[in-house]
Amino acid sequence: MLIDNSKKIVIKLGSSTVVDNKGKFKKKWVTSLIKDLKKFRGKNDLVIVSSGAIALGQNYLKIKKKKIKLEMSQAIAAVGQIHLAGEFQKLFDKYKIKTGQILISPDDTEQRRRALNVRRTFDNLFKLKAIPIVNENDTTATAEIKYGDNDRLAARVAQIVGADTLIILSDVDGLYDKSKKIIKTVSSIDSNINALIDNKKNLYGSGGISTKLDAAKICINAGCNMFIANGKKDNPISNMIKNKIYTHFIPKISSLDARKKWIISSLSSSGKIYIDQGAARALNKGKSLLAAGIVKVEGDFEKGENILVVDENNNNLARGLSSFASSEINKIKGKQSKEIENILGYLSKSEIVHKDDMVKL
Ligand code: GLU
Repeated sequence: MLIDNSKKIVIKLGSSTVVDNKGKFKKKWVTSLIKDLKKFRGKNDLVIVSSGAIALGQNYLKIKKKKIKLEMSQAIAAVGQIHLAGEFQKLFDKYKIKTGQILISPDDTEQRRRALNVRRTFDNLFKLKAIPIVNENDTTATAEIKYGDNDRLAARVAQIVGADTLIILSDVDGLYDKSKKIIKTVSSIDSNINALIDNKKNLYGSGGISTKLDAAKICINAGCNMFIANGKKDNPISNMIKNKIYTHFIPKISSLDARKKWIISSLSSSGKIYIDQGAARALNKGKSLLAAGIVKVEGDFEKGENILVVDENNNNLARGLSSFASSEINKIKGKQSKEIENILGYLSKSEIVHKDDMVKL
């Protein structure tokens, strides 16, 4: 099966797979997972993205409440994360497998330079034969700068490390259709698939079908296979291979380089650039975006930020990194490139979004 042949696998464990309903770490289940993973050892690099810091912290601190204020959950996560990482470390150690902890904030993945640093750390952990155990850095994440769910985080990690497979283990067998049957394969997240979002949440996790589909979009564009499978029973990986019960999101065959894959799977955009038909035609031919074709800018962004390029009817055309701040574009929109230096009063690039920094949608 595909999973056996993957060179780099990211496995995402939801809170309910690693923490039981009494708030205890599920040692037996995790041990069965480790036994499954041992079969792959040496054949491929593995990453584990695990939730559960808040759930374990709550149990340790004897906090029963379900709705907890963000400031308090940051503190609870600080307590729980030590336990979470410690439990993994102890169990993997029994099987002579080394581990390392990586806590990630959105800036670490959404800023190109930092994303490259993150990638290097992962690569070096693979060289050291240590499995990175990843979680969001919940202790410093505030509402505005938070992934909030580990599904999208795991997908972004999969894209950044260049994984060929992401397996999301949760409390469902996969994606169900309207008649409650598992959908075996999905190759694009269209309106029929989006209609299946049910907004159901489990006891501890912050994700649901919606964040899993967001994760799938990232994977499909990044050339990474994604599976949703049930992590309730022991030996989840060998079970899914044997029973073939899961949903497989099949990636697009992509000729994009790593940088463009990173651009297209960006979590959000800081603004929009509206362009006219002439510029849209040029973009379609693979040309850069020039100031002359820009009709409007929306949002407040700095140079280098991820933006969407749309036509005058607000249809998405491309995603890219802007070479100018929104305040600058406001001054030079509609102008010829040779006028830019005069208007801004300094020398700058002539393309607003260079073709190497842009991916057509
Ligand atoms: N990072 C959170 C934790 O470890 C969980 C986020 C999620 O549920 O996906 O508790």
